[in-house]
Amino acid sequence: NVSRPRPSDTGADELFGGLLAAGSDRRTCRSRYESPRYYKHSPYTASAHLLQKLRDYEARHKKCGPGTPQYAKSIDILRSGSSNTEAAECRYLVWLPYNGLGNRMLSLLSTFLYALLTDRVLLVRSTADFTDLFCEPFPGATWNLPPDFPVANMSHLGVQSDESYGNLLRHSKISNQPDKAVSQAVPAYVYAHLAHGLRVTDQLFYCNDDQIVLGKVTWLLLQNDLYYVPLLYDIAEFEDELRRMFPAKESVSHFLARYLFHPSNSVWGMVTRYYGSYLAQAEQRIGVQVRMFPFATIPADDMYKQIMACSRQEGILPEIDDELAKPGNATTDNGAASSKAILVVSLHADYYERIKRTYYEHAAKGGDSVGVFQPSHEERQQRGQRSHNQKALAEIYLLSFSDVLLTTGMSTFGYMSSSLAGLRPTMLAVANDQKVPETPCVHAASMEPCCHLMNFNVKCRGKAVDKEELARHVKVCEDLPRGIKLV
Ligand code: GDP
Repeated sequence: NVSRPRPSDTGADELFGGLLAAGSDRRTCRSRYESPRYYKHSPYTASAHLLQKLRDYEARHKKCGPGTPQYAKSIDILRSGSSNTEAAECRYLVWLPYNGLGNRMLSLLSTFLYALLTDRVLLVRSTADFTDLFCEPFPGATWNLPPDFPVANMSHLGVQSDESYGNLLRHSKISNQPDKAVSQAVPAYVYAHLAHGLRVTDQLFYCNDDQIVLGKVTWLLLQNDLYYVPLLYDIAEFEDELRRMFPAKESVSHFLARYLFHPSNSVWGMVTRYYGSYLAQAEQRIGVQVRMFPFATIPADDMYKQIMACSRQEGILPEIDDELAKPGNATTDNGAASSKAILVVSLHADYYERIKRTYYEHAAKGGDSVGVFQPSHEERQQRGQRSHNQKALAEIYLLSFSDVLLTTGMSTFGYMSSSLAGLRPTMLAVANDQKVPETPCVHAASMEPCCHLMNFNVKCRGKAVDKEELARHVKVCEDLPRGIKLV
């Protein structure tokens, strides 16, 4: 039966070794139960501490989530503007979507980890283009922020908002001085502006003492598009928990992505139909993601040459052997030596066409049969369109079922596929100043995404983490010297 995936050679069970809680309705979210069969790698086992944190989180979400008396009580606190948080049994974290799908997923995943670390309940403000992408991740509860949530104009929250943590500090409406912080009254909600244009005072969010202050706020609204997990590793309050939850540093995004994200049935239908029709029969699947950033475009000829140079350097795509194609040298009489599927994922059809033509015109070494496939070519990124986002999500998942991954550096879309796949990808170098990179690509030191720090410039107060230990596992990214990643 070709529509069946090859069973995972890691033998991952359908709940990822207890990462997912049992008991969810299989029909409402097929991917939750079926996806473990499609992944080729599950390189780590989740720690008992992580599993406990997740079960505790699920219980908290069930107790405090929308529709519960606790939620109603907390909304009353918000409406009254009261800052008495001592009595609050439930505290919340509202995530506001921003930017492309890969960015959103990485930011949401980081925010979920932050909720685990701060004992908050994560709620998602779902915009129209962000619906019917994912299943509800927490059993018996919803993570969708109810539409009657009383904070008006959430889409206008930004760096200028009076409620932003940075502005509350600047206008002395809140204090991060240890002596004042303990006794002060805090607003019923605070908005953490961690997105575009953030200032140094906004960046203080990532500091230990500021986290102690923010811990008193019942409702925290947060917006960014960043994989900010590496920054959480620099906060002493979280040091211990992080170490216990993730003994292997490079497993953070891998576990959290597989825990949190389950494509909706509509997206999963696209994924499984495509996989069954084009990829299932191959003995090896090679995922190639080509992202041409508007700020780093180079001619398609150059990009294709870069892909091929990288492939030769790292041994990714099947080698070509023209001797095989000569008369009398045919080796395919007894069937192909092995079958390979190259999945090309890109907004453009160009690279797919070129790769496909290469294996049409030339034989692969060893007589391998090579199929080349591309699910869609949307031509350009479209904002605010659900069907466009659904295709993007389906393709992130199709890539994540690869045996080998070649992605584009700096692409959050590519980072998400590697994390889900549990694979260290080879990453194409991104052109600087429209110049073709000298080194075509690098092999990633870990499967963790890079945290793209833009103008990050904050001096924190308070207890510090062990800097030597931090330097051992937080390194400069291979694809972006201004970024940091866990290894
Ligand atoms: P990044 O810009 O590469 O970091 O990734 P994002 O996901 O944040 O933003 C890029 C957006 O462009 C995606 O969310 C998609 O909407 C679209 N996009 C980029 N590359 C592809 C692709 O290969 N396939 C599809 N279907 N969409 C893509």
